[in-house]
Amino acid sequence: TYAIEVRDLRKTYAAAGKMPEKQALNGINLAIPTGSIFGLLGPNGAGKSTFINILAGLVKKTSGTARIWGLDIDQSPRQSRAAIGVVNQEVVADPFFTPFEMLELMAGFYGVPKAERRTVEILTALGLADKKDAYVRQLSGGMKRRLMVAKALVHNPPVLILDEPTAGVDVELRRLLWDYVRELHAQGTTIILTTHYLEEAEELCDTIAIVNHGEIVACEPTPQLLSRL
Ligand code: ADP
Ligand code: ADP
Repeated sequence: TYAIEVRDLRKTYAAAGKMPEKQALNGINLAIPTGSIFGLLGPNGAGKSTFINILAGLVKKTSGTARIWGLDIDQSPRQSRAAIGVVNQEVVADPFFTPFEMLELMAGFYGVPKAERRTVEILTALGLADKKDAYVRQLSGGMKRRLMVAKALVHNPPVLILDEPTAGVDVELRRLLWDYVRELHAQGTTIILTTHYLEEAEELCDTIAIVNHGEIVACEPTPQLLSRL
């Protein structure tokens, strides 16, 4: 079975002001098996964020189909979205909430019963236990990035999607995030990440798809792909 199954996915952004119409995705076909750590590797502007944002329900696709955990994103929008946690590049955190409050709010949003919440456990795993009652505005940039990962996990999704998880992050935090992603994977979470660092895809991913100009130009197990580069 597939965690993500996408057929002929296309996205054209409408022209706006001086910006001409832009074809960001030109017919993406992908089947990402359950249990993999899958990397979408490509340069800036390749369409990686657009792909992720369509799955996350943040961008409307122009055409094609997408299934998450077997659920069609058009027919079952809420259920399909509940099967994924998405970590975007932007830090979206209310400065006057605490990490604990933020995670509890998210859990409430997903309808996770109080007894099933793992707020403190998640914060602890990401090294934020001692900051759980601090204001978010008092956290460092690295802590906020980790908080974004925590926020994506409150509903215990079987699939975690990370958009450029380590862009602009120092070496230490990059290691920490990689270790944590590996640990989640070992516990059974399917991982999908986008990156423009070959090194990151090589280090983490069992399969790599190369995206360029809105198309998948290669998709292979990592060792095979690397042997041809
Ligand atoms: P990144 O390259 O780090 O993913 P960008 O700087 O390309 O981010 O985009 C920042 C924001 O601007 C995003 O929300 C993106 O959707 C939007 N954006 C990017 N390119 C365009 C564009 N050509 N026209 C309008 N909005 C855009
Ligand atoms: P990546 O994540 O690989 O950097 P994106 O999906 O952000 O690529 O962008 C793909 C293309 O679509 C780029 O040319 C970008 O400028 C354009 N784009 C992204 N977001 C928007 C938007 N909101 N409006 C118009 N164009 C956009």
